[in-house]
Amino acid sequence: MTKIQAIRGMHDILMHETPNWQYIEQSIQNVLDQYNYKEIRLPIIEKTELFKHAIGDNTDIVSKEMYSFEDKNNSSITLRPEGTASCVRAGIEHGLFHNKLQRLWYMGPMFRYEKPQKGRQRQFHQLGVEAFGFKGPDIDAEQIMICSRIWKTLNIKNIKLEINSLGSSESRLKYRKILVDYFLSKKNDLDEDSLIRLEKNPLRILDSKNKDMQSLIKNAPPINEYLDSQSTEHFSKLKEILDHAKIQYDVNSKLVRGLDYYEKTVYEWKTQELGAQDTLCAGGRYDNLVETHGAKSTPAIGFAIGLERLVELSCFEKISDQTTAHVYLLLSGNNTKKHGLLLAEEIRDKLPNIKIETNCGEGSLKSQFKRADKSGAQIALILGEDELEKKQLTVKYLRNDKPQITIKSQEISDFLDKSLLIE
Ligand code: ATP
Ligand code: MG
Repeated sequence: MTKIQAIRGMHDILMHETPNWQYIEQSIQNVLDQYNYKEIRLPIIEKTELFKHAIGDNTDIVSKEMYSFEDKNNSSITLRPEGTASCVRAGIEHGLFHNKLQRLWYMGPMFRYEKPQKGRQRQFHQLGVEAFGFKGPDIDAEQIMICSRIWKTLNIKNIKLEINSLGSSESRLKYRKILVDYFLSKKNDLDEDSLIRLEKNPLRILDSKNKDMQSLIKNAPPINEYLDSQSTEHFSKLKEILDHAKIQYDVNSKLVRGLDYYEKTVYEWKTQELGAQDTLCAGGRYDNLVETHGAKSTPAIGFAIGLERLVELSCFEKISDQTTAHVYLLLSGNNTKKHGLLLAEEIRDKLPNIKIETNCGEGSLKSQFKRADKSGAQIALILGEDELEKKQLTVKYLRNDKPQITIKSQEISDFLDKSLLIE
């Protein structure tokens, strides 16, 4: 049989990488705790109609990128391409928005059928953060501050914030007409993709990555001239809070998001250190989404960070030495296995912060010492039949020249505690 490989665009995260992921996930959780955001865990599959309805039929995600299947009952289900739709669904289903304010977060895999390339996978991971019931712009600023604190915690530099306002759905409709007129007058200069977008989702032309389109886009009428007064005020208050907090940003009046549900505030954090896929984080306000799912109108805002891109950007010098064992227990002789396994358990009971690896499987002392060395342990404990009989252990130092000693079995935990000085 030919070897079976992983599905294209879906990656294993191997053991040398997981410590970095754990570090990042833990750091993010600590930051979110500081703001008292609460974790919500959502299914990774939902009914296809949920995403279609929330994200919009004419978006890239729904029109091209969804992993949709029929289940055994012939219902169409979809692997989630993003988390906001599920979060809104769950919130409505459990009455979480009913006269309540919610600050929520989730982390996990997302699936999009995209062309795999650097920074773009078919299974990737996101942190999603959402707040419900807040009109803003204070909460808009709070979420931008959360991002900023995550970058600071993970020592990520050279990252830039771009913000924009898309206005209300009514003002956006007016702007859409003006934009369509503009692009229609330049129809001959539009690329194939933009011609399709012109009919289906004209604002997305502004998001085109095609270099030949850039001057056309640059000269397009800017959305900020067509905003309704409420959105203009919301946006200027947000800028005022950011200025006061000394959070730098650029207003990019051509910034639109790829999902239909956004209005008013939208933003992206970009870096030049990731190559072509330069957006690390994207967010915005979606005040109408809860209502269009059949519940009472609830203002909402959220953002998502691509965790693969975050892992790539973060610096991890100190993490690898936290993943090595502290103690390796060598066993020789027939009778020692069960005693050794129990001894290691007793050490773990007394010293929960010590990593102790017991030699499992057979092997000469020489080969066990090789494994001990590989484990990174500082101390090797040897339990042979002789030691067992005398109720003691031989201690050998693996990383210095100190002579080997023997220690009574019942004193081993105290000895390790003193010798290893693990916090
Ligand atoms: P793009 O315009 O690059 O396709 P998007 O608008 O589809 O981005 P969002 O849906 O806003 O992106 O997702 C938020 C973040 O999730 C992105 O900024 C990125 O960091 C990450 N992300 C999105 N799609 C992928 C993917 N296919 N592979 C890896 N990370 C991704
Ligand atoms: Mg995309």
